[in-house]
Amino acid sequence: MADAAPKSPSTTPVGVDITRASIARVYDAALNGTNNYEIDREVLRQVATVAPEVADLAWANRNFLIRACRFLATQGQVTQYLDCGSGLPTAENTHQVVQRLQPDARVLYVDNDPVVLAHGRALLEENPQTRFLEADIFDARQVLHSDLARTFLDWDQPIALIQNGTLHHYLGQDYAEVMAAYIDALPPGSFVVVAHFLDPQTTAHSEIARRMEERFTHSPMGSGVFRTREEIRRLFGDTELVEPGLVLCEDWWPDGPRYTPLNQVQECIAGGIGRKG
Ligand code: SAM
Repeated sequence: MADAAPKSPSTTPVGVDITRASIARVYDAALNGTNNYEIDREVLRQVATVAPEVADLAWANRNFLIRACRFLATQGQVTQYLDCGSGLPTAENTHQVVQRLQPDARVLYVDNDPVVLAHGRALLEENPQTRFLEADIFDARQVLHSDLARTFLDWDQPIALIQNGTLHHYLGQDYAEVMAAYIDALPPGSFVVVAHFLDPQTTAHSEIARRMEERFTHSPMGSGVFRTREEIRRLFGDTELVEPGLVLCEDWWPDGPRYTPLNQVQECIAGGIGRKG
């Protein structure tokens, strides 16, 4: 059942309020981008006091997304993508990865951050198979009932629904219901992609997860929940998890052998892909 607490600060876009950091710009700063302000970098500095490797949360998240997109476009043969929370354009955006492999693939990005909308419209909508929707990604009805989602995507053919690095910014207890509404609407053969901050519940790393959560949620950004594996698993509903299942992002089909051990931050973000039967 829905609770009364605020669901996510990001439901109200940051806009021109310079006292609030924006999720998209903080993430951009972590990825060494240039579309961020002092207030955004301050969030990272605050988290870095407990976890100096904080930027590796963003890198693990982004690199997982790129590998997931490659998998979906090749093994999954998916030609339609609904990418919720696109983020600011960066080196390898969803449409670039999947259209390289499936030139006809259609990508609908959704975001509500004004800076993302400005840059996204300019850079992400670079061809007729790529569109941008301004909507609250935690309100599945708003996204699914939009004219763009109804007309641009074919709801009789498989769709990859991507919520990568987004749902840990949703603070409501009904987080799994947000995903369930999307999954219900997907045609059979569709996929869901999720990456999410993890409390690994181990003696070695649970404490660092909780300390990062405390810093993120009390920072000018105001969100960043580290959920347990069981809690994150609920986001996939009754979809069947693709091998190797819900694992650390760094362990999901890495690109090559590992020469350096994972650091404490890389132990605190998990991802997976589910397939709807
Ligand atoms: N999905 C990308 C990735 O994995 O690289 C970007 C992740 S970034 C951490 C999260 C994105 O979700 C940001 O661009 C932010 O603006 C967007 N976002 C967060 N809350 C949102 C909301 N309620 N509605 C729309 N977009 C939202």
